[in-house]
Amino acid sequence: MFDHELLIGSSFVAGTATAEKVLNPKTGDVLIDLPEASSAQIDAAVNAAADAFNTWSRTTPAERAGMLLKLADAIERDGEDFATLEALNCGKPRIRVLQDEIPAIVDCFRFFAGAARTMHGAVSGEYIANHTSMIRRDPIGVVASIAPWNYPLMMAAWKLAPALAGGNTVVIKPSEQTPLTLLKLARLIAGIFPTGVVNVVTGRGETVGNALIHHPKVAMISLTGDVATGKKVLQAASQTVKRTHLELGGKAPVIVFDDADLSSVVDGIKVFGYYNAGQDCTAACRIYAGKKIYDNLVADLAAAVRTLKFNQPNDDDNDLGPLISARQRSRVASFVERAAEQKHIKIAAGGREGSGSGFFYEPTVVADALQSDEIVRREVFGPVVSVTRFDDVDEAVRWANDSDYGLASSVWTKDISRGMAIAARLQYGCTWINTHFMLVSEMPHGGVKSSGYGKDLSMYALEDYTVVRHVMVKIG
Ligand code: NAD
Repeated sequence: MFDHELLIGSSFVAGTATAEKVLNPKTGDVLIDLPEASSAQIDAAVNAAADAFNTWSRTTPAERAGMLLKLADAIERDGEDFATLEALNCGKPRIRVLQDEIPAIVDCFRFFAGAARTMHGAVSGEYIANHTSMIRRDPIGVVASIAPWNYPLMMAAWKLAPALAGGNTVVIKPSEQTPLTLLKLARLIAGIFPTGVVNVVTGRGETVGNALIHHPKVAMISLTGDVATGKKVLQAASQTVKRTHLELGGKAPVIVFDDADLSSVVDGIKVFGYYNAGQDCTAACRIYAGKKIYDNLVADLAAAVRTLKFNQPNDDDNDLGPLISARQRSRVASFVERAAEQKHIKIAAGGREGSGSGFFYEPTVVADALQSDEIVRREVFGPVVSVTRFDDVDEAVRWANDSDYGLASSVWTKDISRGMAIAARLQYGCTWINTHFMLVSEMPHGGVKSSGYGKDLSMYALEDYTVVRHVMVKIG
C-alpha cells in the first residue's frame, strides 16, 4: 500500500532491523510497521553515496539543474498524492499541504536548480605579481541529512535541493514518525538521478541517525531537530571534524505595540501561532503586548482562537490537525497544566486535550504570563500561545531577546521606522514587521544562538553546502 523500501544505490530494499510503528495521528491507528535500516544497510547507503560522489561532483551545474527541475515537475504532477499521504502521516489538513506545502516544495527544487547555475564569488586576479588567484566553490562530499516530523517532505526538499545543486551526494533519514512521503519521493528520485546520488534510510535517531552522524565517510551532517539532538551531532562531528548544518528549535517573540492594528494582529496570530498545530519552530507563540492594547488583544485573540476548527469530519473545514503523537500531546498538556497552576496566569482559551482517539489538543491562549514563566521560556511545540504585558520599548526588546533561542521574531506597529529600529535590535535569524511566518525560497531561513546556524533556502544555503577553495596559478 505505502512505499516502504529504503533506497540504497539503485536498489529498493526493505529495512532489516527493528520495525517501528508509523501512526495516523488523527486516529492513533497504525499505518505500517516499518523495519528500520540495519548497520550494514546504513553502511551500504553511505558507500553508495561516496562512490556516486566521484562522478556527481563533476557534473555541470546545468546537468544538475536539469534533474532538479525534473524532480520539481514530478512532485508537482503527483502533488495531490503527496498531499494525501503527508496529511495521513502527519494529521495535517490535506488542503493546507496541497495549497501551502507542495507549491513551496516544488519552488524549492526550482530555485536551487537556478541557483546552481548562478553562484557568485570573489573576483579572480593577481594579488601577488605574476600569480593569478581564483576562488572555487566545490561540493563537500557525502551529506547525512536528518529531518524532523513537522514538515517531512518540505524538510527533505530544503535539505536535498541545495545539497544536490552544490554537487554533493546524500544519505537522508526522515523522522521515524513520518517517513512515508520521503519513501514515495525516493521512487521519483531513482528515476531521475544517477545511482547513489540520493539514498534514503529510515529508522530511529538513536540507532540509524546515530550511525549516520558517526560514519567516517560522511563529510557533513545536516540536522533539523531538537537542540539536544544538535548537541549530539556536534559531538559526533568533532570526531572526524565534519561540517555541520543545524536548524534547531525556536520560541518566536511577537512584539505588539499599542499603535498596532488590532484586527491584523489577531488575524495574524490566529494563523501564525496555530498553523500545523503550533508544531513549527517559527510559530508566533510568545506575545509581548503594550499596556494599552493588552486587554483588547487578549479578549479578541481568545475569541478568535475559540473559532479555530479541528477534528471536523470534513477535513477541508479544519484549521489545524492533531499533534504528531500521544507523547507530544502529553508534553504540551503538561506545559499548560504547569502554567495554569500559577496564580497570576489565566487560560483565556483552550487548555484541554481534544476528545477521541487522535492526538488533538485545543488551541490555547495563556494570558498574563510573566517573563520568568516556563511557558514563556521553553519551546512547547503545540497550539499554545502565551501573552505577556510590557511597559516600555526597552523592556519588550530585552524580554524578546532574553531567550536561548534565536530563530524568528516579529514586530507589529503602524510606525514602520519604529519597526525597523526594533528589527535591528532583535537577535533572531528573521524579523517580520506586521506579519510573521512567511518564507520565500530567495531568502534565508535559519537561526542564531541555540536555534543553530545553518541557513536553509536562498543562496546562503548553497554556500553552506559548498566549500570555498583558493586556486593560484603562477603565470610569470
Ligand atoms: P528530534 O531532534 O527528536 O528529531 C529530529 C531528527 O533527528 C529525527 O529524524 C530523529 O530521528 C533524529 N535524531 C534524534 N536523535 C538522534 C541522534 N542521537 N542521532 C542522530 N539523529 C537523531 O526533533 P523532532 O522532535 O523530530 O522535531 C522537533 C524539533 O525540531 C523541535 O525542537 C523544532 O523546533 C525543531 N525544528 C526546527 C526547525 C528549524 O528550521 N529550525 C524546523 C523544524 C523543526
